[in-house]
Amino acid sequence: MKQNDHQDPPQDKDRQRQLRLLPGVDRLVEQLTGAAGLETVPVSVLTDAARSTVAGLRQAILSAKKGLAETELAIDAVVMRAAQAARTAMAPNLKPVINATGVVIHTNLGRSPLSREAIDHLVAVASGYSNLEFDLSKGERGIRYAAIEDLLCRLTGAPAAMAVNNNAGAVLLAVETFARDREVIVSRGELVEIGGSFRIPDVIRKSGAILKEVGTTNRTHLKDYENAVSEKTGLLLKVHTSNYGMVGFTAEVDLAGLVELGRHRNIPVMHDLGSGTLIDFKEFGFPHEPTVPEIVATGADVVTFSGDKLLGGPQAGMIVGKNEAVAAIRANPITRALRIDKLTLAALEMTLRAYRDKPAAIRNIPTLRMLTEPLAVVEQKAAALADELKNLDGTRLAVEQVPLVSKAGGGSLPFLEIPSSGVAVSVEGISANRLENLLRAGNPPLIGRIEQDRFIMDLRTVAQSEISVIKEIFAALAAAANGSDGHTKDC
Ligand SMILES: *Cc1c(COP(=O)(O)O)cnc(C)c1O
Repeated sequence: MKQNDHQDPPQDKDRQRQLRLLPGVDRLVEQLTGAAGLETVPVSVLTDAARSTVAGLRQAILSAKKGLAETELAIDAVVMRAAQAARTAMAPNLKPVINATGVVIHTNLGRSPLSREAIDHLVAVASGYSNLEFDLSKGERGIRYAAIEDLLCRLTGAPAAMAVNNNAGAVLLAVETFARDREVIVSRGELVEIGGSFRIPDVIRKSGAILKEVGTTNRTHLKDYENAVSEKTGLLLKVHTSNYGMVGFTAEVDLAGLVELGRHRNIPVMHDLGSGTLIDFKEFGFPHEPTVPEIVATGADVVTFSGDKLLGGPQAGMIVGKNEAVAAIRANPITRALRIDKLTLAALEMTLRAYRDKPAAIRNIPTLRMLTEPLAVVEQKAAALADELKNLDGTRLAVEQVPLVSKAGGGSLPFLEIPSSGVAVSVEGISANRLENLLRAGNPPLIGRIEQDRFIMDLRTVAQSEISVIKEIFAALAAAANGSDGHTKDC
């Protein structure tokens, strides 16, 4: 360092001087301790905030062409910066956001919001002890699935049922149970990637089973399965292609065909439904999607589906099917590693209970309500939001109600285009990208999309109660922009 000093060009002298202006971490912590609004912040958090603030400024000084503006280094400014870092550190990382994307089952945004009943029951169960694995009538150890087994059986028509942590786990577990060190026969047209890292061929391999692909990408026939069956076959697996489809010269073997073959050759048949619905969406004009009861009635030994896709409940993997098959899965030690948590179980039970009255389920389970909300209702919400935003004082907001198309998401009903309505916003002097950034960083974060240089909000996934929240978000944005009037730069 010493030897460099005398060789430094003039701007490096400035930098050295600026670095010396930075307060020490201890001094900064002292200033933050007990400061207004930070009274309850633990010292460890203040220290981290002070340290990261000083480190950040040091970095900024070193990387800026001509050092930093002196105002940024004034002690008050540094304290303010550190206080902001401390406040940010106090807010939870996982937090509610407003989903204005129009994608109802949005995996990145937590898939299905829970019904009121599910939330209340979850809170009640979480707040104390429960009979999770305690049979209250006998006073002895009970079964974890007791709360949902009977419900799942009634709702799906299957004689046995259980649930695990998620559907990926359900598939892994079931394949491992029936086909470890044996072959699983799957059509080449169904070797799908669901998203993230869930790929059917990988899951089969990881379960210790041997993948036996049959057919071609676009066409698979019953004889392909028949020819592949041998004494090494452990399972016939049908996979819902979820997020993709094929058109043109295609052929697949329906579940009934596989069930017939399985019965004939004494091989279990499994259908991974992915989304899985207990509601027939026909009356809402959606493309036909076989319901779980229909699939079960076809005679599959095991059917798996997600708790938080079309079912509209918590993350979970349902496993329903024949007594013998479900008993074998329960006896698998891996079940213990994938077991469903009590909070999930509480929410799942109430979600399933709602389905005993289907019209009520559609009203009360948010995912079902949003998917089926009549266009006129969504249009009313969009009009209400557009009015609120137009009435904001002194803003340079251009607001327009626009027709949109919502999607089910989560690999469910991929071809469904639900007519929807929303609001397009642009702000004079701020690009749509910058606006999207600001809204995403807001409190609560507002997630929409950009189209033709406007920020678009689809009201199908926005609750009535969130409209006033969105208005407040834009009001705060406008206030901040007006505060720096004339300085608002487009980045
Ligand atoms: C979504 C999906 C899965 C994985 O379910 P998770 O609930 O996300 O674990 C498995 N199989 C299919 C066909 C799916 O669509």
